[in-house]
Amino acid sequence: MIEFMNLDFKENALEPIISKRTIEFHYGKHHKAYVDKTNELIKGTEFQDMSLEDIIEASFGKPELMVLYNNAGQVYNHNIYWKSVGDKNIINEELSKEIIEKFGSIKEFGNKFIEEGMKVFGSGWVWLVRNKKKELEILTTKNGDTPIVLGMEVIFNIDVWEHAYYLDYQNLRKKYLEEVIAKILNI
Ligand code: MN
Repeated sequence: MIEFMNLDFKENALEPIISKRTIEFHYGKHHKAYVDKTNELIKGTEFQDMSLEDIIEASFGKPELMVLYNNAGQVYNHNIYWKSVGDKNIINEELSKEIIEKFGSIKEFGNKFIEEGMKVFGSGWVWLVRNKKKELEILTTKNGDTPIVLGMEVIFNIDVWEHAYYLDYQNLRKKYLEEVIAKILNI
């Protein structure tokens, strides 16, 4: 069985960037549904005692396990998302220096991150990862896809599925990305 993570902040703690109502739906309904579905799919199978990461690795690229892969991937992606928006200290001094070296400035990095997030057609995710060469990279994934199967180390992500922003920003994905990335980057 996999766990439905607890939020380490109150549901209204991210207002006005992300409303209590969005968190009630996004965390309480969407995220929970991925956890419930994953647990339903692994019950009584070889996957039931595996970690979430192992389930994702084991189901990746297997058409007959695609539903499990997508649901488990979405659990993982949302676990990262709530940490990304809730943690005030993702961008520590060392990472900040590295971002400036690679992208010019924190602001330029933020703009590039927004630009990439806007390129995702339909549902997906935008990520800051460390690739196999240990370099920082902005990456996008579609639907429930997750960078861990690519051997990348995840630093943070932003959910660009419509359910992440529709209640607060309607169709304005760019505005949502601007607000959330500014929060993560403390700018
Ligand atoms: Mn979501």
